[in-house]
Amino acid sequence: MSYLAKTDPAIADIIEKERLRQVNGLELIASENVVSRAVLEAMGSIMTNKYAEGYPGKRYYGGCEFHDMAENLARDRLKKLFGAEHANVQAHSGTQANMAVYFAAIKLGEKILSMKLNQGGHLSHGSPVSFTGKFYQVAQYGVDPKTEVLDYGVVAEMAKKERPQIIVCGASAYPRTIDFKAFQEIADDVGAVCLADIAHIAGLVATGLHPTSVGVVNYTTTTTHKTLRGPRGGAIMCNADLGVGIDKAVFPGMQGGPLMHTIAAKAVCFEEALKPSFREYNKQIIRNAKVLAETLMANGLRLVSGGTDNHLMLLDLTEQGITGLEAETALGKAGITVNKNTIPNETKSPFVTSGLRIGTPAVTSRGMKEAEMRLIGGWIASVIKDIKNEKNTSDVRGKVEALASKFTLYPE
Ligand code: PLP
Repeated sequence: MSYLAKTDPAIADIIEKERLRQVNGLELIASENVVSRAVLEAMGSIMTNKYAEGYPGKRYYGGCEFHDMAENLARDRLKKLFGAEHANVQAHSGTQANMAVYFAAIKLGEKILSMKLNQGGHLSHGSPVSFTGKFYQVAQYGVDPKTEVLDYGVVAEMAKKERPQIIVCGASAYPRTIDFKAFQEIADDVGAVCLADIAHIAGLVATGLHPTSVGVVNYTTTTTHKTLRGPRGGAIMCNADLGVGIDKAVFPGMQGGPLMHTIAAKAVCFEEALKPSFREYNKQIIRNAKVLAETLMANGLRLVSGGTDNHLMLLDLTEQGITGLEAETALGKAGITVNKNTIPNETKSPFVTSGLRIGTPAVTSRGMKEAEMRLIGGWIASVIKDIKNEKNTSDVRGKVEALASKFTLYPE
């Protein structure tokens, strides 16, 4: 019995139930992953006991010598991984990494030009329900209604008309390659700065499987827990001349003490990402996404933009006459976790939606390859196309559990 099970059986029981959910099911949420045991160990370490406000060498608390070492390692490894001049690893989340850039780069009340939430953008890019929509003016671009991919000419036109102070690119639900250089050029033309939020594709960018934004646009932000496969958190990269402003915006601008256990775990994640095996892993994420996409399409389902270049795909359920919510619920019963998602030209609310977002980072971490993607694609299609058939859904659950049992989450 674990120590926690003795001291707090209620929480220990919840954690065990969640462990079994992860072990027995298939996690296809595009923004999730399975971290290594080493990352877990660093996260659960005594580094959480310490206050370390400030930065290495300039702390507001004594006793930070080992925290300085951990944070320096995290920063140096992140810089090496992306070829960045400056790195800040203290942002508690992706949203806060973005907040730091807005605080450092533009004034309150100035204008953000970014991608619409219902076409793939993120809440922290200007949604009225986020601080961004409350603190700043916002203008938004979408994808081309026919091709469902970005049209850089249209973005350039909007930039000329709207005269934003910052242009944000990067997305939460965009299955295609993003041209960061084009975005920086558009920003330069109107005297704006450019922020690339690579949260979703960071692992692909780090391994050269997606063109980089680092050194190409003014500011790059990321989460560390998606394709990068680290602890939940954020990070910011920029050229050296912008570094002081970013560091001040994070602390004392918007955060207090950094989460030092998370920073230690970020350092572990970055070191893992520098290994050749991480590139192989990211290649497999992409291969798996392609095969899963092809399988879904071969089963008569429509994917937004006709496929994927990265780790995720967006399923349009309009022809099936079901909502994203219904599909998410049915697949959940079958042991397959996905999330409902708006699609371009969406007619339904974000709580209902006409689409599903599906991604391969987590199942790839478990060692699944193309053969498994063909099976999973077939099961997803069969549940969606016969959504009221509870016998089929329960049969699929049996197959999901049998497959999951062959791919251990963490070897004992
Ligand atoms: N940016 C993008 C593109 C994201 O997809 C997400 C999260 O899904 C975030 C930022 C926000 O990250 P967090 O949930 O850590 O605030």
